[in-house]
Amino acid sequence: MPSQPLDQATFANSFVEELRGETNPDPGSRQVPGYAYSRVTPTPVAAPHLLAWSDDLGHFLGLVRPPERGPAVDALAGNLVTETMKPFAARYAGHQFGNWAGQLGDGRAMSLGELTATDGSRWELQLKGAGPTPYSRRADGRAVLRSSLREFLCSEAMHYLGVPTTRALSLVGTGDEVVRDMFYNGNQRPEPGAIVARVAPTFVRFGNFQIFAASGEMENLRALADYVIRHHYPELGEPGPAVYVTWFEEVCRRTAVMVAHWMSVGFVHGVMNTDNMSILGLTIDYGPYGWLEPYDPGWTPNTTDFGYRRYAFGQQPQVALWNLARLAEALSLLVAEPNDLRAGFGRYTETLAGTRYRLMLDKLGLSHLAPEEDGKLINDLLKALEAAGADMTIFFRQLSHVAPSLLVAEPGVEEARFTELLAAAAYTPLPSPAYTPLLAWLPRYLARLRQETAAPEHIKTGMLAANPKYVLRNYLAQNAIQAAEKGDLTYLNRLMESLKTPYAEQPEFEEFAAKRPDWAWDMPGCATLSCSS
Ligand code: AMP
Ligand code: MG
Repeated sequence: MPSQPLDQATFANSFVEELRGETNPDPGSRQVPGYAYSRVTPTPVAAPHLLAWSDDLGHFLGLVRPPERGPAVDALAGNLVTETMKPFAARYAGHQFGNWAGQLGDGRAMSLGELTATDGSRWELQLKGAGPTPYSRRADGRAVLRSSLREFLCSEAMHYLGVPTTRALSLVGTGDEVVRDMFYNGNQRPEPGAIVARVAPTFVRFGNFQIFAASGEMENLRALADYVIRHHYPELGEPGPAVYVTWFEEVCRRTAVMVAHWMSVGFVHGVMNTDNMSILGLTIDYGPYGWLEPYDPGWTPNTTDFGYRRYAFGQQPQVALWNLARLAEALSLLVAEPNDLRAGFGRYTETLAGTRYRLMLDKLGLSHLAPEEDGKLINDLLKALEAAGADMTIFFRQLSHVAPSLLVAEPGVEEARFTELLAAAAYTPLPSPAYTPLLAWLPRYLARLRQETAAPEHIKTGMLAANPKYVLRNYLAQNAIQAAEKGDLTYLNRLMESLKTPYAEQPEFEEFAAKRPDWAWDMPGCATLSCSS
């Protein structure tokens, strides 16, 4: 299939055609009982212009990179709705911070339809920030550049790290201003507006099922489950009560794999409400997310969550399980014996533990030799890292270089190398008692590594492939935003390039592997983020 411009692509519309939607064109906020979605029309923006484009994804979707302005960019901004697009906003509900919030829905996201990729697979294209929908709850349906740029960069960064995620195709500036009170302190200010076009097989969330269960819409509940299974879990067979049970188990498994990856790379989602949980086990809705710099399970970037830290890094495994329990409640209406769904929870717990363990062995260059001893070694490492407050990414990356080389080094150099390693990852000056546990752990680990039979070079290659050098540090995203707001896209483009091969050395991008600088400790957008977007 030759590449074509987006405005000439043919869209399929399975969601709209197979599920029940309302066609009322009124964009006013309202409850939409009885429907899975509302047909909507994007509200045009003043001057759409392309700010960023994901070349690999575009290529996969058979799309040519558009020029800065023109029909393809108009389509990416909602200014052009082509003949085969049938834009819709999905209706969903959710538990926000543990509380039932009722109907939420796509308040600013609109799906245009599905594109067929070069391999024949179908991908929904969704604009975020394309104007009000019935689910906008009186908000403006828009998005600002800073949050859109963060979503664009992070979804692609996660993909290249190997974390299950929705993708981002483009970032388009709208030429309009959007007024936001970034710190929720009464200081509103106009900011540049933007629209991200995001891509996933489907954007259905746990909350899409919850709303039907909560309002007793059994037909809609079953139809949505059948739609998701037929299109996205076809290997499970024809939908029915028994298949709903195995399907839930599979959703649990995928969610566990996703969370295990988050824990392995130090990603904090920040708002794990049930409306932000993908039914495909993909990371979805990048808002006030953050990346661990000092290793700290209690850390969250989300200022709204500073009171309870419900969505802090170390809470993520159990919060995902809590969310799965809410999904199970909704699906229980579809199965003969609701208790059968419990198997999914077991599957979640097992998969999470197994995947985290496997990912951690990879990070440490260890094979499955001594499960009991290694389990303890891993736990002690995490405790020691927390005590040290060392930079998670730098620690593991440096370890990948240092530890295998010590297997073949002259005796006596270990202590010096370990101290260098800690200095590279440290935020508190050495020496300090904070590093005692980590300094005690390193020789223990080295002794364990000596039991491995693989060649040190081979171990090193494996560890470098498991420990990224480049992650989207919060301050890097902030630098990209500040430059982009001034009209300079070079930083964004270079950063994006570095994140495409996060496990490669790429010395030309060394600056993006640097520890959090002093200025970024208290800077909003770097250490703290509000939900304002
Ligand atoms: P989020 O916190 O981004 O997951 O959003 C929670 C809910 O608020 C979703 O239903 C969003 O669609 C909605 N929402 C967030 N921002 C806006 C906005 N600017 N306009 C309309 N709806 C919004
Ligand atoms: Mg959301």
